Amino acid sequence: MSGTGFDVLARDGAARLGRLETAHGTVETPVFMPVGTAATVKAMMPDAVAATGARLILGNTYHLMLRPGAERIAALGGLHRFMNWPQAILTDSGGFQVMSLASLRKITEEGVAFRSHLDGSKHLLTPEHSVEIQHLLGADITMAFDECTPFPSPREAVEASMELSMRWAERSRRAFVARPGHGIFGIVQGGVHPDLRERSAARLVEIGFDGYAIGGLAIGEGQETTFAMVEATVPFLPEDRPRYLMGVGKPADIVGAVKRGVDMFDCVLPTRSGRTAQAFTREGTLNLRNARHADDPAPLDPECRCPACTGFSRAYLHHLVKSGEILASMLLTQHNLTSYADLTAALRVAIRDGRLADFAFGGATP
Ligand SMILES: [Zn+2]
Repeated sequence: MSGTGFDVLARDGAARLGRLETAHGTVETPVFMPVGTAATVKAMMPDAVAATGARLILGNTYHLMLRPGAERIAALGGLHRFMNWPQAILTDSGGFQVMSLASLRKITEEGVAFRSHLDGSKHLLTPEHSVEIQHLLGADITMAFDECTPFPSPREAVEASMELSMRWAERSRRAFVARPGHGIFGIVQGGVHPDLRERSAARLVEIGFDGYAIGGLAIGEGQETTFAMVEATVPFLPEDRPRYLMGVGKPADIVGAVKRGVDMFDCVLPTRSGRTAQAFTREGTLNLRNARHADDPAPLDPECRCPACTGFSRAYLHHLVKSGEILASMLLTQHNLTSYADLTAALRVAIRDGRLADFAFGGATP
């Protein structure tokens, strides 16, 4: 079989329970992908990431092409071997980071010329080069190269940007080397305009991808608009391919998007928050820096199975945070990723049992 496989096993309303087959294992959906920007999920050993339940993580093309370099990673056996993560990896195309991090960007029909944020060196990222880098890394899932349109932008600018991304999507598809268990996903753009979203989705389906991402959202438009754009896009995507909402989000955003037919998510929130003393629990978000935790012998979340919750008190975690100890980041990141993994696992059970309408997981009930 060429490409990634995807089977929908159960439905509850628009939501789906699915199984994604990759060269590095099977992934149950809905799924949350921890972000491993620079070939590491920050503050986590690979075994600890796997212990949360994660079977698919995200790597960043922009960061890895600049340091240590895609050719170097390929010569060292590929990204899975390099970071000792034997399970599935999705890589982004570099399009988003090149817009948010690089300096002196120049966008042409060919691609994006830019200077590295690390050393000022000059680079040109094109659809063909982005796909080649992701091939060198050995990604199970490659993302098409696109332009992430800033929000807000005038409609004409959003439309021109979306049309450019669709031409780049076709070039990305053509550059992709098909092999068993490896797939390429297209990315729907079109800002906050339902008709542009529909046109973008239709164009991508015509080109034909192994999965479809909804991009250019969660960049300041607000949850209501994000959901409206998901609703404007999902009906135009094929039933038998996974759908990925990029960069989302908070637990409540994930629940709302799953109810609207999305299968895959990624976000830096659980990992980044873990390094800034924020914990996602079934009773909402807690700030462990807060002095009210100083004498609290209770666990962070009594229902959580993670090492931070089964082994330590809120008072101890507060102490680690106040002391600037590395273990605070490690434990809180592991807790947050466990919390996200358990949220998506609970969503899968609810879809299977047809109980998604009354779904409740802590504060995550939109
Ligand atoms: Zn926990």
